[in-house]
Amino acid sequence: MKMKTIDMGVNKKIALVAHDNKKPDLLEWAKFNRDLLAHHKIFATGTTGSFLEKELGFPIRRLESGPLGGDQQIGSKIVDGEIDFLIFFFFFWDPLEPQPHDPDVKALLRMAVVWNIPIACDRSSADFMISSPLMDETYQRIVPDYSEYRGRRLPSEAPAAQPAKEKE
Ligand code: PGA
Repeated sequence: MKMKTIDMGVNKKIALVAHDNKKPDLLEWAKFNRDLLAHHKIFATGTTGSFLEKELGFPIRRLESGPLGGDQQIGSKIVDGEIDFLIFFFFFWDPLEPQPHDPDVKALLRMAVVWNIPIACDRSSADFMISSPLMDETYQRIVPDYSEYRGRRLPSEAPAAQPAKEKE
């Protein structure tokens, strides 16, 4: 498959999301890294965003709450190139805590992979990512050139199979 690149600027477009039991962790992390985050464009799902705004004291672009569609909004912004970095603190499983929007979470993570977006799902990954020198440089993100996929032939478009020639 052919590949192409998408430019990520010096100022990254970062989405921050945390499930309820991980919100304290994300808030503490964001507070510790406030100065590193300040010059980037920060997005967040609704509840995470309101806590972050109070904690960090700079404006956060707040979307809908995750279970009400906020995760899907982030996925859509990734597709549109409006978000290029994802920090999403969650438990992969929690037998005591049903996640009604589990399909949305999976869909968001899938979009992040489809568009080769850096993703941190826990604190140590977020620490490594935020302290990377690439955070303050432009970066060319390599993604597959999906034009081949868009132009693919569907089975209904395939030429009809020719009957096999009878042996003489
Ligand atoms: P919230 O959503 O920030 O509105 O709580 C987070 C989530 O996806 O659970």
